[in-house]
Amino acid sequence: MPGHPHGKPAGVACSHLLPDLRCALFGRPERPQVCSSLRPQPAMCGDHRTAALDYLQALEQATSAGAAAAGPTMC
Ligand code: SF4
Repeated sequence: MPGHPHGKPAGVACSHLLPDLRCALFGRPERPQVCSSLRPQPAMCGDHRTAALDYLQALEQATSAGAAAAGPTMC
């Protein structure tokens, strides 16, 4: 990711996110494969932006280094 050469830290907005919330790399070859291949699902987006941000935060917490040591939280 050009703006995050060492990886984007969790909880930090992507440096390619424009003020109007569009991707500055959309349609360009520098756009990361993970971004281009992502197919948003209703469960990811919710019905408003805050729901989507809450979903992202939950994913970041579930996949953080501390979460791996704590083990699974769902069964
Ligand atoms: S789609 Fe990827 S590169 Fe574009 S703003 Fe979002 S995280 Fe950044």
